[in-house]
Order: sequence, then structure tokens, then C-alpha cells
Amino acid sequence: MSSLSSPKVPAPKNEPVLSYAPASPERVALERALKEQAANPVEVPLYIEPDGRPTHTGNLVDIRAPHDHSVVLGRVHRGGAAEASVAIETALAAQRAWIDVPFEERAAIFLRAAELISGRDRARILAATMHGQSKTAHQAEIDAACELADFLRFNVHFAERILAEQPASDAGLWNRSEARPLEGFVYAVTPFNFTAIAGNLPTAPALLGNVVLWKPADNAMLSAWHVMDILRECGLPPGVITFVTGDPVEISRVAMSHPMLAGIHFTGSTAVFQQLWKQTADNLSRYRSYPRIVGETGGKDFIVAHPSADATALSTAILRGGFEYQGQKCSAASRAYLPRSLWPVVRDRLVAEMRTIKLGPVTDFANFMGAVIDKKAFDRITGYQKLARDEHTVIAGGRSNPENGWFVQPTLVETKDPKSRLMTEEIFGPLVTAFVYDDAKWSEVLALVDETSPYALTGAVFCRDTPALLEAKRALLFSAGNFYVNDKPTGAVVGQQPFGGARASGTNDKAGSLWNLVRWISPRTVKETLSPPHAWRYPFMG
Ligand code: NAD
Repeated sequence: MSSLSSPKVPAPKNEPVLSYAPASPERVALERALKEQAANPVEVPLYIEPDGRPTHTGNLVDIRAPHDHSVVLGRVHRGGAAEASVAIETALAAQRAWIDVPFEERAAIFLRAAELISGRDRARILAATMHGQSKTAHQAEIDAACELADFLRFNVHFAERILAEQPASDAGLWNRSEARPLEGFVYAVTPFNFTAIAGNLPTAPALLGNVVLWKPADNAMLSAWHVMDILRECGLPPGVITFVTGDPVEISRVAMSHPMLAGIHFTGSTAVFQQLWKQTADNLSRYRSYPRIVGETGGKDFIVAHPSADATALSTAILRGGFEYQGQKCSAASRAYLPRSLWPVVRDRLVAEMRTIKLGPVTDFANFMGAVIDKKAFDRITGYQKLARDEHTVIAGGRSNPENGWFVQPTLVETKDPKSRLMTEEIFGPLVTAFVYDDAKWSEVLALVDETSPYALTGAVFCRDTPALLEAKRALLFSAGNFYVNDKPTGAVVGQQPFGGARASGTNDKAGSLWNLVRWISPRTVKETLSPPHAWRYPFMG
């Protein structure tokens, strides 16, 4: 734990977004990486052993591209309860040595990883995200290269600020605060939809001296493995982050009932998070410490427009916010509240533009949308499309085709029932439902937006009338953790818009911010008396 200096970490800057325009150097490198990865399937092992060697269980499942069922990108060795137990013991055994690594050396590992991800390995991590999660080049760029590099660099900067936060000292004393990690292991459970989140959930606690069991999502295994491989190359010691693939229920049962569970870092659906929280309660008396529970979960994100809104900006926000990455962002616009006076012009522009949206394999760069992640997602979203056809009015789109890939058309629905399932449930697909309200009912519609859904993740208001905007900000105070004014509700940038929601959307610990990192320490306060007293009697006793 000794330190020979008090170094300043490099000031973080957001990674610039590259264009991937035809013939640009990044486009050439990316096309080469896409071809290479399609032709050379990988074998994904587990990393659970103290010597860092990979584990091959032989229980193999294919990784297939969501947009092309015929492309096998690799095979995953699935683990289970036994491998989870080994991983936990390996992680716990690694903790003391990891705490003893000075902060700057721990930080350097993650800064090196950011450098590879944004430099030498940019095309590699993008290609894996495009193939494995069906993201277009632009969507993969803002996620797997930029946001992941940002998380790694900004977290180092936030951690430095936490370490610098020290108490006051009276004369003759020196008080110190030590940013001690949690005692035990952190269970990081990651979602399919962002390579950046998959990388952030295990690395944020690890940076502060924690050890982690990382359980990546089954349906995003290719990019998760590349992230793990890069961290290993950058000098992450074995056991600090273990990598356990396999049945989430089985792995969670082992992790959640272990006495040394010290924290949960989760992003995914609300139902799974609530189940993990209940398991924590059931096991409470077993734990050595009260586990920190951090979870970012589902959303039913809204766009509400005032009659004063800019109709073109509004329809652009619905197109980008609702349909990019096939609506599979937790922040994706899913319900829109539009004034009757603007509806015809907004609707007509949406219908015209949606006709021009190209849907297909993301390896064809002309496509704006790829496929949804898997059959389960396809069945769920097409179920909502059927509901829209049966009970509401489909304005555009509404069809799907699972023949070669899990393709779902961007879909716009109009409903007369603002409390219908389409307005309240998370669909997590490219389906936006609009409710048209009378222009005079601004106050009523704001109350409706607030009370309609159990979620409170993101929301946007389009308005150019100051009193109306103030009213919206007040009425929607608790309706969204990330609130946008005249902008789409997606696309939060690390260090600029700390991200997270409340109510059923999560614990709102704001990924990629100081607020998140403080959850991964349990500070020790040290008071040293520089010249300890020898007399025990107080003057008042005289
Ligand atoms: P998911 O809940 O299906 O899976 C998330 C993780 O939980 C995966 O690793 C999965 O294997 C694991 N899991 C699944 N069932 C489990 C169980 N019974 N016990 C333990 N672990 C289990 O979610 P997903 O489909 O990967 O991601 C989509 C969801 O994530 C959406 O609801 C979306 O809103 C949410 N999300 C939220 C944010 C945010 O910041 N709020 C960000 C991204 C995604």
C-alpha cells in the first residue's frame, strides 16, 4: 500500500466519434475486422482460476449474428454452479494483493485498456459489437469505442477525487479517510445492449480495489470476451475480475447465497433486479456485510410536446430516440404525447421518413437498423405489434420477418387509450406509441405522463414557451432521472449527462460518475494523535 508519490491522473476527455464514411481509414479497418471475425469463430472460455488460465467446460453453445442466422461467430463454454464457486474463491484470494497494488498502478491498467479500445483495438471491439449485438457502425462506435473508453478514463478521474476527499484535523491531530474497498466480492451482472455497460460494471468496482465475479449476458458474449481479453492483456491480475458464463439462475444462486457477497452491480430488466434484491433479503443473516445494491433497470421513456414545440426537431427526436439500435436502449423513446395542432405535420413527416429507413444486416453500411437481439425479443416485440394491430391504429411499419435474422420494422402506433399496455409496459423494441391530446390540456397531459408508468428513467419535453416549460420541469420532477429539453431522450455521454433513473428504473447511482464509485468503497477513518496526552484528569475535576 506504500506510495512514493501522489500522482495526478491524466485529465479525461470524451473520445471523439469517428464517421466511418466510405474510404475513411476507420471504415477500411472496420470492414477488414468484420470479415476477419466472420471467418474466424472464437472459442470463449471462463476465467476463474488463480493462475489466469482459461477454463473449457466443453458444454458449448454457438454465438450467432442476430441479423444472419447462418453466421456462427464463435462458441461459448458454459459454466454453472461449480464454476461460480471456484470463481468466488479465486476472487476472494486475490483481494489482499489487489488492495496492496497502489491506486495509480490499478488505474494504469484501465487507462491502458481505454487506449487500446480507442486505438489499436477499436475496429476489433466495434466489429464484435456489430456482429454479436447487431449494432450499426455508428451505434457500435458510440457504445463500444467511445462510451467504454470514456467510462474507463472518467472513472479513474472520479476515483482520484474520492481518494482526495479528506476530513479536517484539529491541532495536534491528523485525521485521514482511507477509500477501503468492500470486504468480499462484487457480483457484476451485465445486459446485452451496451458493450460499454458490460465493461463498466466489473471495472468500476475493481478500480477501487474490489474483486468481482462478472456474469456477462448470454446474448452478448462475443464483445464481452473481447473486453475481458483486452483487460487481461493490460495487466489485470487473475482473480480481480473473474469471467463466468452460463445459466444466470444457477450462477446467481451461488453468488447471492455466499457470505462474502459485498455488492451487486446490475444492469438489466426490472424483474431480474427485483429477484436479486429479494434473494439478498432472504440471505441477509448469512452475509458478513450488508451488500451494496446498485441496479439500473427498465424504462418507459417519454417525449411530451407542447403546442409551441419545433415540429421538425420533435419528429427527428422520435425517429432517432425511438428506432436507433432497434429501440433496444433503456432510454429509447417509447411513448409520445403530442398536441392535436402538431399531430398531422409530425405524423406525416414520420410516415414519410420511416418509409426511407433501411433495415437489414449491419454489415451493409447503408442500413440504419439491424435485427433485434434474439428470438425471445422478436417474439415479445411482435406480440406488441399484434396488440397494436388488434386494439389501436398502426400508422407506419408494423411488420416483421424472422427468416434470415430477427428483423422488426420500425413501428408508429396511435392510441386513444393513454393507459393502454403500449403506453405503460417496456417493449424494448422499435415501437413508439403516440397519444394525441387537446392543446389546452397541457397541465393534464403532464400529470398523465407522470402517473402512467412505474418507470422513471428518461424523458424529453419539446417546448418553446417558458412558463409551459417551467410547469413541465416541476410536474415531471420525479418522472425521469435523465430529463431532456428539446432533445431526444437517448445518447447520454459519460462525464456530461450522468445516467440513471429512479422508481422502478433503478437505484439511480448514475453510471460513469462519482456517485456510482462511492458505492464501491467502505471508508476507514484513521485518527492519529501526534502527541498523545499523558494526564487523564480533566481541569473541571479540580
Ligand atoms: P435481462 O434482465 O434479461 O438480463 C440482464 C442480465 O441478467 C444478463 O446477464 C442475464 O443473463 C441476467 N439474468 C437473466 N435472468 C436472470 C436471473 N433469473 N437471475 C439472475 N440473472 C439473470 O436484461 P437484458 O435483456 O440483457 O437487457 C435489457 C434490459 O436492461 C431492459 O429492461 C433495459 O431497460 C435494461 N437496461 C437498463 C439500463 C439502465 O441504465 N437503466 C441500461 C441498459 C439496459
